[in-house]
Amino acid sequence: PPQRVFVRQSLANNLRHELIFGITKTTLDYYQKNFGQRYPFSKVDHVMCPDYKYGAMENVGCITYSDSIMCSSQQMSIPQLTFFCVVIQHELAHMWFGNLVTMQWWNDLWLNESFATALSYYACAEGGPFVEEFKNESWLHFANYKRWGLSDDLQPTNHNIEAECANTDVSESLIDGITYGKGASLLKQLIFLMGWKAFTNGIKLYFKEYKWTNTTLHDFIGKLQQGYDETLGDGKLNLESWADKWLRTKGPNKITYEFQHEEGVITSFKIRQGFCKFGDEVFRKQSINIGFFDQYLNFEEHQNIVIQDRELTEVPQLVGLQVPEAILMNSNDHGFGVFIIDDKSIRFFEENLSKLENQLNKAVVIGQLLIMLRQILYPATRLPILLNQMMDEPNQNLINAVYMSLVQAQSIYLPPENVQKFNKEVADFFLRKAVKERADPKLQMFCLDKAFGFMYDEENLSMAAKWVDTPGKIEIFGEEMEATLTEDQ
Ligand SMILES: [Zn+2]
Repeated sequence: PPQRVFVRQSLANNLRHELIFGITKTTLDYYQKNFGQRYPFSKVDHVMCPDYKYGAMENVGCITYSDSIMCSSQQMSIPQLTFFCVVIQHELAHMWFGNLVTMQWWNDLWLNESFATALSYYACAEGGPFVEEFKNESWLHFANYKRWGLSDDLQPTNHNIEAECANTDVSESLIDGITYGKGASLLKQLIFLMGWKAFTNGIKLYFKEYKWTNTTLHDFIGKLQQGYDETLGDGKLNLESWADKWLRTKGPNKITYEFQHEEGVITSFKIRQGFCKFGDEVFRKQSINIGFFDQYLNFEEHQNIVIQDRELTEVPQLVGLQVPEAILMNSNDHGFGVFIIDDKSIRFFEENLSKLENQLNKAVVIGQLLIMLRQILYPATRLPILLNQMMDEPNQNLINAVYMSLVQAQSIYLPPENVQKFNKEVADFFLRKAVKERADPKLQMFCLDKAFGFMYDEENLSMAAKWVDTPGKIEIFGEEMEATLTEDQ
C-alpha cells in the first residue's frame, strides 16, 4: 500500500522517514505471511502529533504517533531506536488485530494490546530489510517490557488479564503493565508451549472466520485450540484450562527448585511453585528452558521442560547430570513468573555475568535479580556489584536494564544512609565507562546520560560545571575528550 508521513515543520529534520517506510514494508510482508490475510486497507499514513497522550494509535490506515517518541531528537539511543521500531510494528499488527477483527468489549482489551505487542517483537526479531539492525535487540528490549508486567502483577492493584470493565471510563485504567507487558509475555509463553506453526495456524483460522466482526476471548482460544489440534493432534494441551489459570487469575507464581545428588551427580530434581502476595493461589502450567553452567562457564540448555499445574513437578530430564556451578531457570526467557536464583548461582552470576555468551541470558539473570530485589530477596546495596559486570558491555539495552533499577533503588529500595555512597559509586561507574568507550561516541554519550542522575557529590558536580564552558570538549577524571552535550543534558 502507498505510505505517507506527516510531521510539523520544526521537527522535519529529525524525521527518519526512510526507516519508517522500510520498517512498515518489511513488517507488512511478515504479517501477511503469518496471518494469512492481506493488509486489509488501501494506504498507511504515519502522522506525528505534538503532545500526544499515548505512544501511538492505530486508526484505520492512519497511525498517529507521539512526535516526542518518534522524532524529538536526531540522536537516539539503541533502546530508543528499538522502541521506535516496535511501536510501528505494534500499530501495524493492530490493522489486523483490532481493526480487521475487533474485541466485543473492553474486558478483552488485552487481546488487542498483548497480541500487537508480542507480535511486534517477533516481527522485530525476525529481521529482514530495515529491521536487521534491531534483530538482536528485540528480545533484550522485551525483557524489560516483561519486567514491567511482572512488577505490576506483584502490586496490590493487579488484576486478571481478562479484566472487568464496567464502562468506557474504566477502560483507561486497563492501559497498564498487565494488559501490555504481562499479556504479551503470556502470548510468548503460549507460542513456546504450542509451537509457532500451531499458533500461526490458529491465527489464520481466526482471521479467516472472524474478519470484519467482533470477537471475545472464547473465540480466540477456540481457534488456537483448533490450530493446535490440526497441527499436532496429541491432545496434550487444553487451552480453555490454560486461559482459566493464566488469564482469569492474577499474580505470578514464585518458582524455585530443589535437587538431591550423590557424588556430584543429580539423583532427583523438582520444581516447586508457590504464590506471591496479592496473587491468587493457582498452580499454572508452562514450558521453560533450564540452563546449567559449569565452572568453565560452559552452558548447557535443557529445553521444553513443562512445569505442571501442581505444586511439585519432577524433572527426570535432569537426573543423572553433573551438579552444575550455577542454574538459570527460564534461560532464553520464554516463561513468566518470579524465578528465584539460589545463593550459589547468585555469587556465580555476580562474578561471571559479563562473560556469558548469550546476551538474552544476561538479560534474564538481570531481570530475575531485579524482581528478587523488589521481593526483598536481593539487597539493593549489591546492585553496584551487578553494575560492575557491565563495564565491558557494549549493549545499551542490557545496560539500560540495570540502569532502570538503579534509579528505583536510589529513590525506593536503599536505606537512606546508603544513598550517598551508592550515588557516588554509580556516577563513577558511568563516568569511567564513558572514558573507556571514547572510541564509540554514541555509547559514550549513552553512558554520560546515565551518569547525570547520580552526580550529587561536589567533586563530580564541579567537574560537570566545567563542561558547560567548553563546547565540544569535556574532561572526565583528568581525561579530555570530544563530546557535545545536548540541551537536555
Ligand atoms: Zn496498541
